[in-house]
Amino acid sequence: MTDERARELRADFPILAQRVHDTPLVYLDFGATAQRPQAVLDAERAFVTEHNSAVHRGSHELAALATGDYEDARETVAAFVGADADEIAWQAGATDALNTIANGIAAASRGRGGDASAPLRLEAGDEILITEAEHHANLVPWQELALATGATLRYVPVNDHGTWALDDLRPLVSDRTRVIAFAHVSNVTGLIAPVEEIVALASTVGAVTVLDACQSVPHRPVDFHALGVDFAAFSGHKMAGPNGIGVLYGRRERLAQLPPARTGGSMIEVVTMEATTFMAPPTRFEAGTQPVSQAVALAAACRYLAEVGMSAIRDHEEALGARMVAELSAIEGVTVIGNDASVPRSGLASFIIDGVHAHDVSQYLDAAGIAVRAGHHCAQPLHRRLGVTASTRASSYLTTTDDEIDALIEAVSGIRAYFGANR
Ligand code: PMP
Repeated sequence: MTDERARELRADFPILAQRVHDTPLVYLDFGATAQRPQAVLDAERAFVTEHNSAVHRGSHELAALATGDYEDARETVAAFVGADADEIAWQAGATDALNTIANGIAAASRGRGGDASAPLRLEAGDEILITEAEHHANLVPWQELALATGATLRYVPVNDHGTWALDDLRPLVSDRTRVIAFAHVSNVTGLIAPVEEIVALASTVGAVTVLDACQSVPHRPVDFHALGVDFAAFSGHKMAGPNGIGVLYGRRERLAQLPPARTGGSMIEVVTMEATTFMAPPTRFEAGTQPVSQAVALAAACRYLAEVGMSAIRDHEEALGARMVAELSAIEGVTVIGNDASVPRSGLASFIIDGVHAHDVSQYLDAAGIAVRAGHHCAQPLHRRLGVTASTRASSYLTTTDDEIDALIEAVSGIRAYFGANR
């Protein structure tokens, strides 16, 4: 994708045209939440103004139309990630989806079915393997699962760059490993994990793989069937779609083994005062009134991104990411986390500036109209390992232009002098 094309695409995103602090907005916080193109806003509005209704219940015309839209959306989103429609369940977001998986495994370990079978049942001495670079959403639910089952939580340590490699993970896989959960793309270092190799390794010990696909599905072609993972999670708001919706993917056999983590209306077959039987997946993971307009809008986001082309988006962002890493790290006193030539990286760059706190960095950049993220990015252990409490993250997307990266580099170049950190 050319810079020219990125400029053209900006016209689809009304929010990007605005000025902040009297300068053009340079939005480089797509890793936290992406912006939405008009086509997505229109799709949601059309649904709400024409078909809005609760799905799978009413016998009236609007309910039928809404149910059709809702299930069409499932087909579209499933096809976007190389899954079948019955392998994806709507959740509130990736955090929610990861909790559904971990809590479902906890329930299976207590003997709750479905048809819970050995691979999803954990007991004392079993192991859950994650990495030290995980987002808290892919860390805390596994700590809770370990507490609930007596399993041990192990992690792949990161190196001084904050990155890790397959060879670091390999020795931690044992015949007690039951779950391997990891981010496809790190939200701090941008590291792209060797998914297929980890899946192959997991299969040698019968471990279940869980992919946090929050930072991959929005930014690159992803095919869950081809990758071979058992479960995956991603959020709508990071991929030009709405918030309040995310996806739990489960390979059909695995999803069938997972008990529901949440119960209530819409997910039951028969309820008596004594007991309840649950519907088959994916419905059994969708308790309560469903986020229908969000599902419709997420499908519109998938259509929009597919039309632009996910390979083109990936190539564009990786080029911008490489540029940010090279030019930021060339500035005196600036260190880019994950600046490790031996690992493939995505289109974001988190950095630390000697003598200037990340919050001051982001405030300074904000004054120049540049929106970045400052903090621990929900990855405290990774930052602790690197000896810092916070970093600043600039993250790109399909609309990011060379001019915007120029603006970032120019602004960052002046920060240490402004704060007197270069004296
Ligand atoms: N994992 C990663 C890698 C993320 O970047 C995020 C969002 N920052 C999440 C999980 C959680 O996503 P959400 O807050 O949308 O549930």
